[in-house]
Amino acid sequence: SLTLGIVGLPNVGKSTLFNALTNSEVEAANYPFATIEPNIGVVNLPDPRLNRLAEIFGSERILPATVSFVDIAGIVKGASEGEGMGNQFLSNIREADAICQVVRVFADEDVVHVAGKVDPLADIETVATELILADLQTIEKALPRLEKEARKNKELVETLEAVKAAEAVLTDGKTLFAAGFDTAPIRELHLMTAKPFLYVFNADEGVLTDAARRAELAAAVAPADSVFLDAKIESELLELDPEDQAEMLESIGQDEPGLDSLARAGFHTLGLQTYLTAGPKESRAWTIRQGDTAPKAAGVIHTDFEKGFIKAEVVSFADLDANGSMAAAKSAGKVRMEGKDYVMNDGDVVEFRFNV
Ligand code: GDP
Repeated sequence: SLTLGIVGLPNVGKSTLFNALTNSEVEAANYPFATIEPNIGVVNLPDPRLNRLAEIFGSERILPATVSFVDIAGIVKGASEGEGMGNQFLSNIREADAICQVVRVFADEDVVHVAGKVDPLADIETVATELILADLQTIEKALPRLEKEARKNKELVETLEAVKAAEAVLTDGKTLFAAGFDTAPIRELHLMTAKPFLYVFNADEGVLTDAARRAELAAAVAPADSVFLDAKIESELLELDPEDQAEMLESIGQDEPGLDSLARAGFHTLGLQTYLTAGPKESRAWTIRQGDTAPKAAGVIHTDFEKGFIKAEVVSFADLDANGSMAAAKSAGKVRMEGKDYVMNDGDVVEFRFNV
């Protein structure tokens, strides 16, 4: 499954957030690995549609989709030159599908800041610079080989040009993601700044309730997604019953737990979407990539479903919700039979027909 790698400077609240992630209760049945590795934190993707489906179908249980975060320790200034745990850090980050940087916004005299003061945009730049430098090293190493190969193989000329264009963007101090660079032609280089970024601003009440400040920070990192939360409070929230949770959230101006916002943003950053299945046993969300076709979606349930795919019976959640039952949705003509070229929409409620 796809993962977001959690990075950030020391003392910004990574461990605090990661502990909250690992303590959040995820039903193991919907998690593809038998045991959850210690450096992986999994959160449920909140989805109120599942509650409605469970009501319509009388489902015994609800299984939401999940989002996985990997704790990647130790970025410091100089990581690209092997400072600190530099090399280990870089190889861990290469394995992640997206980068989730925790950024300190909270002020606390008792918590030392590595750079001497709380400056979120400077911290973001520090991390970006290390990743940019590491990517430039990768490109420098690859260029002589590519140039040689491109002389013999005309097809590689385009790749070579794209790599040089990427080099120019990076030299200019931009990540490939922030620059909106088309990274498809240079995928083989596995550049880190080509991965999508997500920023978690670890803030206190003052900033959480300050819409203008939040908008300013979010705009500074766009097109990356931003999430604003208080990591310390997120851990405390998990200990509370729903009523006290709501009260605590309200006191810091939040309308949902930060982990919920983080799950949603992480899912979006990874380019994922869900489709839904429902029956008396369970109402369940399944994770697919945006743009996946029906057979591909069926394959997430079981590989045999993809191989033996015949058709998908599809109704949009909105239509099912409005009609109140599958039978009513059918008589209203809202249930479609879709074939193997059908591209799934988020929130499709599906039943697959297949040969075994
Ligand atoms: P890491 O080095 O990035 O993993 O940071 P930690 O999670 O260990 O946090 C460093 C210190 O900051 C700890 O003492 C935390 O309790 C504290 N801390 C983390 N998040 C917050 C927060 O949102 N507000 C405040 N005031 N302190 C925090």
